[in-house]
Amino acid sequence: NDSYNKVPKHHSRTDASSEAHLVAQHYNQRPDVGVVQRKQSKIIRMRSFNNWVKSVLIQRHTRRQNCVFDMGCGKGGDLIKWAKAKIDYLIAADIAAVSLEQMKERYKGLRFRQFDAEFHAMDCYSEPIGPHLETRRPVDVVSMQFCLHYAFESEEKARMMLQNVSRHLRSGGQFIGTIPDANLLVKRVRQEPPDVVGFGNEFYWIEFDPLPQPKSSSSAFPPFGCKYMFHLEDAVDCPEYLVHWDTFERLTKEYGLELIYKENFHPFYQRAKQDKDNAMLLQKIGVVGGQGPEMSPEEWEAAGIYLAFAFRKR
Ligand code: SAM
Repeated sequence: NDSYNKVPKHHSRTDASSEAHLVAQHYNQRPDVGVVQRKQSKIIRMRSFNNWVKSVLIQRHTRRQNCVFDMGCGKGGDLIKWAKAKIDYLIAADIAAVSLEQMKERYKGLRFRQFDAEFHAMDCYSEPIGPHLETRRPVDVVSMQFCLHYAFESEEKARMMLQNVSRHLRSGGQFIGTIPDANLLVKRVRQEPPDVVGFGNEFYWIEFDPLPQPKSSSSAFPPFGCKYMFHLEDAVDCPEYLVHWDTFERLTKEYGLELIYKENFHPFYQRAKQDKDNAMLLQKIGVVGGQGPEMSPEEWEAAGIYLAFAFRKR
């Protein structure tokens, strides 16, 4: 279990020519505040809800003793979820070297650390992970939570990201993730008066610069590089890119991945809570329909800007 020692401290490989360094800088600067302060956060219920969605996805698509690749793992917010899923091996990679160090500390502190792990500070959208891997095991599950959209800065990056997803994933392996629901964001901004380029509420704010223009009559916005500024109270404040779903799905096919489902978080919640275990977990975190505080309409609106997806490797 000592593989975390193998990664040189704060060693980070990034592509300085793009905005990746801004993203890395933003996440590196976010303090690791600990459980008590996290619970006082203004967006605690949204965080808990997002964690519930990720728990459902992870439990649905991961089996005991799996080898998992958590790409864009951040500070390791999903470590306990992987432990609960009883995985055997974790490959963790993120462009933000400081976040990754915090994840290593969390990993060392896990009470039941029954899986081995390796950590890589690298830009997963600009270079292949293959040459850096310590394990020779094929990957059973690739997880990309709230991070894939940064690859849609360019086609080159989106392709490198998908190459990293697919190359080590075994046949039948699962690729799961969560991203902003681009169609919804574009529909929403077009409801505003023509001179308004953003929308949001007290929890989040999205601002396009410029407004997304249709590339052709069949496409609501360009497939790559469609940038907006995203502010999520207490969590995110950096440039992001719309994920053009049809383009993404077409590319995934080229990398041998077939769609199982994609679902906005609102219908995802309605469907997933029918399951007894998922409903129990909801009650436990006390977010929606439990005994604890329910989400306000504004929090619920903010939760609905995301979608979840799952693919299978052919
Ligand atoms: N997946 C984690 C979670 O759900 O808690 C972290 C999500 S955080 C919103 C987005 C993460 O994507 C950040 O840690 C950021 O550093 C990472 N990221 C962005 N661009 C990346 C890239 N090119 N390569 C690797 N990680 C990247």
